[in-house]
Amino acid sequence: MSVRDLIILGCSSQQPTRRRNHGAYLLRWNDEGFLFDPGEGTQRQFIFANVAPTCVNRMFISHFHGDHCLGVGSMLMRLNLDKVTHPIHCYYPASGQVYFDRLRYGTMYHENIHVIPHPVHKPGLVEEDEKFRIEAFSLDHGVENFAWRIKEKDTIKFDKQKLKDKGVQGELVRLLEREKQITIGGKIITLDEVSHVRPGDIFSIVIDTLPCQGAIDAAKNATLLLCESTYLDEHGHLAKEYHHMTAKQAAEIAKKAHAKQLILTHFSARYQDLEPFETEARSIFPNTFAADDLKVFPFPRT
Ligand SMILES: [Zn+2]
Ligand SMILES: [Zn+2]
Repeated sequence: MSVRDLIILGCSSQQPTRRRNHGAYLLRWNDEGFLFDPGEGTQRQFIFANVAPTCVNRMFISHFHGDHCLGVGSMLMRLNLDKVTHPIHCYYPASGQVYFDRLRYGTMYHENIHVIPHPVHKPGLVEEDEKFRIEAFSLDHGVENFAWRIKEKDTIKFDKQKLKDKGVQGELVRLLEREKQITIGGKIITLDEVSHVRPGDIFSIVIDTLPCQGAIDAAKNATLLLCESTYLDEHGHLAKEYHHMTAKQAAEIAKKAHAKQLILTHFSARYQDLEPFETEARSIFPNTFAADDLKVFPFPRT
């Protein structure tokens, strides 16, 4: 199986701190590199993370506040410099097209990479291909802002012993997968009797919002949920005022959505210690971890 992990390139909210960069999140999944909300300085964070930026082939922007997109231009220029030959798909709210264009063409450079813009006009299905199903959900942040839910396609897992017992080997296995049933020596063998379906994993990212139904829907049954918790409960009044959430509220969303694991991020610069975020959230949703710059979270096993 290829590498499956979430690398935190930054986890600060509006302003970076000495220890925390602007947010940026790299999800490496089935030979693809999904980069979410690259804030300022993302390019350099790749160096600290020891990961080549060239692995990025899809970029997602939840909304166009600076801490979620200031790294878009420099990342595209970096990929251009590295002469990547694969297409770079960019997903973002269509209402922010002007900002996307400015970020993309903010400086002089000769663009050689193949950027494919995907302006998202409304919540719902964004794209479905042979590997993933991508959906967008509206959040409540005062400006248009999308949560993303990405589901890997279900896969067929064969039972080796059962295949052996039935005499299905080599090319016949692929034929059975394709045709759903085959006949060997006059006996019909169906796909179901020698295999099971492994449901695809789900990654959800909910950043910059008040608690809302869109956040819960995006996070539904997520294997891994990356969710903002800008504040602790003691500063709940600030969360409300600035359209953000507390660690407690993020945990409530994970619980309501039946997510499997919760990673908290987008911390206000007022906090130095992130442990209280874990403590607060774990009282509601035990399987919670606080992000931190350069932390790596393996995709939970299902
Ligand atoms: Zn933000
Ligand atoms: Zn914002």
